[in-house]
Amino acid sequence: MNVEFLIHRTSRPLDDGERQKILADPGFGRHFTDHMASAVWTPEAGWHELKVAALEPLHLHPAAAVLHYAQEIFEGLKAFRHDDGSIWLFRPELNARRFARSARRLALPVLDEKHFVDSVKALVSADCAWVPSGDGEKSLYVRPFMFGSEAFLGVRPAARVFYGVIATPAASYFSSGVAGVTLWVSENYTRAAKGGTGAAKCGGNYAASLAAQVEATENGCDQVLYLSGDEQRVLEESGTMNLFLVTADRELVTPGLGTILEGVIRDSVLHLAAEHNLKPVERQLRLDQLRAGCDDGSITEIFAVGTAAVVTPVLHFKGDGYEHTVGDGRPGTTTLAIREHILGLQYGKVPDTRQWLH
Ligand code: PMP
Repeated sequence: MNVEFLIHRTSRPLDDGERQKILADPGFGRHFTDHMASAVWTPEAGWHELKVAALEPLHLHPAAAVLHYAQEIFEGLKAFRHDDGSIWLFRPELNARRFARSARRLALPVLDEKHFVDSVKALVSADCAWVPSGDGEKSLYVRPFMFGSEAFLGVRPAARVFYGVIATPAASYFSSGVAGVTLWVSENYTRAAKGGTGAAKCGGNYAASLAAQVEATENGCDQVLYLSGDEQRVLEESGTMNLFLVTADRELVTPGLGTILEGVIRDSVLHLAAEHNLKPVERQLRLDQLRAGCDDGSITEIFAVGTAAVVTPVLHFKGDGYEHTVGDGRPGTTTLAIREHILGLQYGKVPDTRQWLH
């Protein structure tokens, strides 16, 4: 693929006043920018029809593969406006690589790293007026996605695939200060198994998580804490976030890769650990070890990380017949320091020595 994403500006953008009203209170995922980047793939032509054009509803045949067999993947990353007005992406090449890995797992065609990043940049530049500025931690959340659009009911990889990138302005996840969350340890549901799709960012994983999330909410919790489906019952990840524990002897422990999603923020936090006097460790941790460690004080903080909420303190977790408080039940100092560090990098307040910003 050697053509670029050409920008065809819409002749009917939302008027300035309406857009400003949305940006003042964007919420999340309800308002969309004026444009969409897209491309189409067929076995004969490869990727073609690369463009950025007006955001419009898609025209899909009812037999489109995605509607029946969920051949679909997506990504999520943010664009941040710095104080000088410039707009930056945070490590988008990691999203590009993960998207390619997800594509392979779902038997979708791979979009190379350069074109993934170019498509995101093209959309963000077409819709730059939609990147919030000023107070708080607002951003433009960018959602690349790909699905089998071929009209065919046989079970095999689709021979026509659609790639799109849309964007939605996002408010700060925490409207007043940093809140902590309570996690629900589900006995009834697991998220992934060896050989499954846990490491891919495919829509089906999220469809399967909804019942577990409903269970968590019914039990007064914010998110699910997933365990492995085997006898070991090791920690995997939270709903849409990777987990970290801080130990009394300054280890920063996170579950190893395999069945979990390899998060961009997870990788970033592992890189920053030494600057916080922490030793990064990727290892398995069983639920019984987690419970004992919180009770005897050897685990001092737990936090969850992801693009949406950045770094979220986990203050409590509960399961069938038990409940634990982490530390003193308030956000820990290490958790808050790492959160400030990541936000500082994203918003250009901390020198970007690793060149993570594009
Ligand atoms: N795990 C899951 C299941 C997720 O959906 C996400 C969000 N993409 C994460 C972890 C965190 O990944 P990232 O840091 O790349 O947002």
